[in-house]
Amino acid sequence: MKAALWQSVRNIQVQDIPVPQVQAGQVKIKVAYCGICGSDLHEYLAGPIFIPVDQPHPISKDKAPVVMGHEFAGEVVEVGEGVTNVKPGDRICIEPIYHCGECASCKRGHYNVCEKLGFIGLSGGYGGFAEYSVVPASMIHLIPDHMTWEQAALVEPAAVAVHAVRESDLRIGGTVAVFGTGPIGLLVIQAARAAGASQIIAVEVSPERQEFARKVGADVIVNPKECDTVETIRSHTGGLGVDVAYEVAGIEQTINAAILSTRSEGNIVNISIWEKPASIPLNGLILTERKMTSIIAYRNIFPQVIQLIANGQIQALELVTKKIAIDDIVTEGFEALTKNKSQIKILVNPQP
Ligand SMILES: [Zn+2]
Ligand SMILES: [Zn+2]
Repeated sequence: MKAALWQSVRNIQVQDIPVPQVQAGQVKIKVAYCGICGSDLHEYLAGPIFIPVDQPHPISKDKAPVVMGHEFAGEVVEVGEGVTNVKPGDRICIEPIYHCGECASCKRGHYNVCEKLGFIGLSGGYGGFAEYSVVPASMIHLIPDHMTWEQAALVEPAAVAVHAVRESDLRIGGTVAVFGTGPIGLLVIQAARAAGASQIIAVEVSPERQEFARKVGADVIVNPKECDTVETIRSHTGGLGVDVAYEVAGIEQTINAAILSTRSEGNIVNISIWEKPASIPLNGLILTERKMTSIIAYRNIFPQVIQLIANGQIQALELVTKKIAIDDIVTEGFEALTKNKSQIKILVNPQP
C-alpha cells in the first residue's frame, strides 16, 4: 500500500509498504481522509519535534521513518482478538494519543499530560497518510451515520480547540480575543461561540486568514500591522480588555499582546507549542491577577466534539480548502501550506 513517511526534515516520501497486520487488541482501518496538521508541517519544516529518531518511542516502539498523519477517519475492516467496542463496517475517527496508563496523570484520567505522551502518526505507529492503519482499539470513536468523512477528519483539531475553551475561564456572555487564525485559531473562534462568547476579536496579519476568521464568526478583526493591538482590543471592550485571550500563534510579541489585552483578573490561554523561549511581562500577570493557562491536545472529550460537529455547532467544513491524493502530499499538501496562507486545512485521500 502507499504511505507517506517522514524520513528527515524536508524529506517526506510516498512509498510502497506492506499492509499492516492486526494484532490482539488492535483495529484495522481503511482510511477515508487524513488532515495535514500544523504539527505535521513543523515536523516537515523544522523537525524532528515529536518524531523519535535515535531512540524508539517508549509506547509505539517505533522510530523514523514513520508513517505520518494523526487527523483521520475511516471504516473498520478487521478487529484483533479481544476487541469488543467496534466491528468491521463501523465508521470511526481516531483519538491519536499514546499514553502509558500507569503514570500519576494517566491514573487521574489526564492522559494528555502522560509522562510518555505521544501521537500515532508522529511518534510512530501506522499514521493516517496510508491506505490502511492499525491502531489500539482504545483510540477508536464511533461517528454518527450522517457525519461526513470530511467532518470526521476534523474532530481531532476541533478537540484541541474545545479542550482549550473548556479549560479557560470563558462563561456565556464573555468576551474573547483569538491571536492567530490558522486552523486551530479558527476552531477556537467556533468553539468560543458555541460556548456563548458575546464578542470575538480575531488578531491576524494575513488578509486571507482574516477572511476565514470573519467567515467562521469573528466579530472584529484586528491587524497588528495597522494598529496598536492592545489599545484596539481595549477600545472594543469598554476600555477593560477581554475576559479571555487565546494565543495560537507562538510568537513572543503575540503572547505579550495577549496578556496585556485581557482585563484585570482575565485569563490567557497558551495553545501554541513554542519553537524557542519567549520573554513575557510577568508584572502584566501579577499586578492585575491575570491567569495564564496552558493546554496540550485534549482529554475525555472526543464523543462531545463529534456531536458538536455533527450538530453543526462547530462548522468544521468551513476550514477545508483542498482535498488531494496521497501522491501529491508534498507538492499539493506540505508545500502548498508553507507557501500559501489561503490554504487552511488540506485533507488527504489515501485510497488509490
Ligand atoms: Zn493535529
Ligand atoms: Zn501515563
